[in-house]
Amino acid sequence: MSKQTVFDKVNALEGLCSSSCQFLWDNPEVGGTEEKSANYMRKLLKDAGFTIVNEEKLPHAFYAEFGSGRPVIAILGEYDALPGLSQKVCPVREPVKDGAPGHGCGHNLLGSASVTAAIAMKQVMEQEKLPGTIRFYGCPEEELLCGKVKMAYYHMFDGCDCAIAWHPASSNMVVDQCYLASAYARFYFTGISSHAAFAPELGRSAMDAVELMNVGTNYLREHVISSARIHYSSDNCGFPPNIVPSKANAWYCVRAPKMSDVKSILDRIEKVARGAAMMTETEVEVKVEYGCCEMRPAHKFADVTHRVMTETPMPQYTAEELAFVKSMQDSLKPGAAEKDRASYGVAADAVLHDGVCARDLWKQVPNSASSDSGDVSYMMPMTSFTVANLPFGVAPHTWQSTALTGSSVGAKAALYAARVIAGVAYTLLTEPETTGAILKEFRDAHVEYTPMYTE
Ligand SMILES: [Zn+2]
Repeated sequence: MSKQTVFDKVNALEGLCSSSCQFLWDNPEVGGTEEKSANYMRKLLKDAGFTIVNEEKLPHAFYAEFGSGRPVIAILGEYDALPGLSQKVCPVREPVKDGAPGHGCGHNLLGSASVTAAIAMKQVMEQEKLPGTIRFYGCPEEELLCGKVKMAYYHMFDGCDCAIAWHPASSNMVVDQCYLASAYARFYFTGISSHAAFAPELGRSAMDAVELMNVGTNYLREHVISSARIHYSSDNCGFPPNIVPSKANAWYCVRAPKMSDVKSILDRIEKVARGAAMMTETEVEVKVEYGCCEMRPAHKFADVTHRVMTETPMPQYTAEELAFVKSMQDSLKPGAAEKDRASYGVAADAVLHDGVCARDLWKQVPNSASSDSGDVSYMMPMTSFTVANLPFGVAPHTWQSTALTGSSVGAKAALYAARVIAGVAYTLLTEPETTGAILKEFRDAHVEYTPMYTE
């Protein structure tokens, strides 16, 4: 069987792929509430002959398995939406429902393409009697950066050899190393309440401690690596100003290029918090909620993905579809597309990326987001790529992005992604020496991993 036959199997599932994109888009569920989306995906896979494996503690997470023996290939899928991004498929801001969620990050395409590729690969494996195992991973709560961390904590990825991930974006590109590692921590301060005017000397303010902690952290900023980011919000637990507050909390998020940097910065912030508690004679309790790792490179795996991307037929858009994409770009402020065009080295009037980026172009495209897929790359070699469904200048997490992920442009981009995933999986199943080299590169790196999550 040639790769073209694999692509044909995927193309024959175009109806399944586009109705799945549409169903998820029509039923947007934010992280933690993905019941309909997860059940829809479970049904598609069960009907196609996969065995569904659930985890009792995580109702919206699962994996669906077909085949036996190695390699065990994980295809990652997501399906959560974003709050407040409801939007019709039209070039002006017009929600389907005011204040409702919407698929502004394109996870409707992400989940659907991955399911389509998994089902197509089952057909290919049956036809060719290929040994090996395909697993589709239904991963909830990606937007909260914790779904895959929790799945790792509950050992749902045990037994996998390698993973394939993708994301809708404004280019067709292999991504070798990206995402900032991040972690969330809460600092609970406890003091002593008192009348703020009558007996302030008897009070010990937890809010003072929070304020001093934030001031201390702002001084710390100068002495951490410049690529780190520290964000916080504070909560006075509802105390009015005429009572010395006995409770107050700070909620922190730290990001940095590597998890080791995140951990060391968090340790230093904890010292600042303990100093603030000492200054104010309050107590502090620290709870690191969860964190997700940066994406580790898997160079040999990325080589394969890049090769497959260049072999895979690109989506063909109609003049009407391209005019719609252009109208979305035109809805931006003048000049908004220039930064993207410069990063990808395309023409000054380019609208939608229509080629495949050079193998190492990812190095010159700034990426300051985080994803819990990073944790998967710490457990096994993982490849990741992006597919263009957004015109240059349109960022994810915008109403324009929701409109595009609900359009036929999004569905065609998803089908291209499914062809690439299936092509990569087919290579892994039929070229044992290539797969062996990918696994060896990961083994030789001696990566250690513990999920940063507490129940
Ligand atoms: Zn996303």
